[in-house]
Amino acid sequence: MRSQILLPLFLLTCSLAHAASDPVADARTLVEQSQAQVKVDPERSRTLAEQALQLLARQPDADLQVRAHLLLCDYQSERDLAVANQHIAQGRALVPLLKRKGLEAGLYGCEGELHESAGDNTRALASYEQEVQLAEQMKDDELLADGLYKRGHLRGVRGEFANGLIDLKRARALYERMQLPLYTLTVENTIAILYNRMGDHAQARHYYESALKAQAEAGLRREQAVTQYNLGRSLESLRDWDAAQLAFDNVLKLSRELDYTRGVAYALRGLASVQNARGEPKAALVLLDQASDYQLSVPDARLHAQILLQRGIALRLLRRLPESVSALTGALQVFTGADALAEQAAAHGALAATLAEQNDWRAAFEQQTRFKNATEQLLTRQLDERFATLKIEYDTAARDREMALLQQAQKATEHSLAQERLAGRLLTVAIALAAVLLVVLGVLVWRHRRTSVAMRGLAMTDELTGLPNRRAALAELEAQLGRAAPNCALLLGDIDLFKAINDNHGHLAGDQILRVVGEAVRSIDHSGAGRPAACLARFGGEEFVAVLPGALLDEAVAAAEVFRAQVAALDVSRWTPGRGVTISVGVTLMVPGDTLSSLLRRADEALYAAKAQGRNCVVIRTASSAPALAAPLAPVAASSVGSSA
Ligand code: GH3
Ligand code: MG
Ligand code: MG
Repeated sequence: MRSQILLPLFLLTCSLAHAASDPVADARTLVEQSQAQVKVDPERSRTLAEQALQLLARQPDADLQVRAHLLLCDYQSERDLAVANQHIAQGRALVPLLKRKGLEAGLYGCEGELHESAGDNTRALASYEQEVQLAEQMKDDELLADGLYKRGHLRGVRGEFANGLIDLKRARALYERMQLPLYTLTVENTIAILYNRMGDHAQARHYYESALKAQAEAGLRREQAVTQYNLGRSLESLRDWDAAQLAFDNVLKLSRELDYTRGVAYALRGLASVQNARGEPKAALVLLDQASDYQLSVPDARLHAQILLQRGIALRLLRRLPESVSALTGALQVFTGADALAEQAAAHGALAATLAEQNDWRAAFEQQTRFKNATEQLLTRQLDERFATLKIEYDTAARDREMALLQQAQKATEHSLAQERLAGRLLTVAIALAAVLLVVLGVLVWRHRRTSVAMRGLAMTDELTGLPNRRAALAELEAQLGRAAPNCALLLGDIDLFKAINDNHGHLAGDQILRVVGEAVRSIDHSGAGRPAACLARFGGEEFVAVLPGALLDEAVAAAEVFRAQVAALDVSRWTPGRGVTISVGVTLMVPGDTLSSLLRRADEALYAAKAQGRNCVVIRTASSAPALAAPLAPVAASSVGSSA
């Protein structure tokens, strides 16, 4: 019952998961897994790459397709050259569609491997050159490292140890930078092979043994097989036959487990070499027959030649001399074609020994001479290359030192730049602060000004009436007196019998009367005919003045009369019931030679005269008409009495 429910649910989940899967993403995972398996399990690597291609056939992605073809080409380059070539051709067709242009370099790389497998090292080298150039141009570090590794390895095979080491060390640095430890390890192995070729077998043996440990820990079984074989070759050179046998036994075991035919063939050749060294040529031949069988399915010309070399040695030991000569001649041909000098020397030596046993002294001598020449050439090369290697190491150290100095200089520059930037930022902050300060100061100054103006206004204004005060009126009179041709009239008014108002109606009522009279003063208008406005002020107590610049006497009298009448007409019954308010006005004109006191005295005299005449009237006193203060005041012009107090 429960499974009846669960099964459809499971199927639905599966179909949903399938519908959601993305073939390109899946293919990418497969390609990456395949790449990771290259050095662990080549068969698994091939299966994964083939699965990726199947997926990509449904939904193509040129970059992933080329990567898969490269992985398969690499796999087939050790097994089936025709199939490997097909992968290159398929890859080439996709080049125009590539996003990662550097991948094209990989095609040259694999092409080189195919040439190398076919024993054509010259063309292989040319292909690797192209791979390196293109990868450098496209700034593709991964393929550049691949190209450098392959070129370095081949240069080493050709005995160009110094150039080989330069390539390999560059490749190692790139892999280290890309954090690909397994690839770094492979490159280091090859560097060790070069040291081995240069004759430093003991150091190479030590290196291989430590590399084997690292590979075993990382589970790199194929790499372990290769390193074991290389270790075996070093031990062969060191003539440590027991150790060599152990190494080749390990290669055989690992290769059989991995189904790695090439490894099996190599291991058998190594074991045969040990048997030959121990004087067991029959056992060697059995092993070599097996090796040849395996080698038939492996496109590797040099392996074939190495098998022939051991076969030639074994046949000589068995005194099957003509067969030995033919095997050794065959081996020599391949080694010469591959420019493999060390192996050439070994073949010449073996051939000389066989020919000597055939009593063919002349040919034996010739081969012995070639053996000696090759050995000497090898020695010279080794010395040259060792010297060159030392030089490279020195150059590398010098370049590292130079780099360190440059980096120091760059750090210093960056530091000073950062400081400059900081200083710039501080300057900006300082400028901003200064601006804020300026604004604050401006506001303060403006406020101060405003306060000053306000204070000046307050100082010049009468609080009760809002009119300019005595100080303002005196300042105006001083200004008028300071003119070259003073021309202005002065009106001085005094409220009549004001004390009585205060006394009878109170001070507050008196203040109200002062306010309304002040309003009446404001109405003295004289600013017509382009003349400046009058200064109308409370002169103190119940006295008011009007300064009328440019006013003629009759104009001044008329203004005074209007003012007087206006005051007399005021309705102040609210504050002083049953009583009106009147004002007496004295009028005078400013004359040249006047001082403030002479002017005010005349105005006062006029006012006094008005009071004397009965109040509520206007009296004129001019400079020419000025009598002595004690004299009875006779008004020049008198107004009529509007209202009685
Ligand atoms: P006259 O007609 O001769 O000018 O008589 P008067 O009473 O007006 O003259 P007097 O000088 O004797 O009186 C002026 C009075 O004005 C005296 C003073 O108390 C009053 N006074 C002065 N300043 C003010 C003020 O601001 N408010 C009030 N309510 N009274 C004031
Ligand atoms: Mg008075
Ligand atoms: Mg008065």
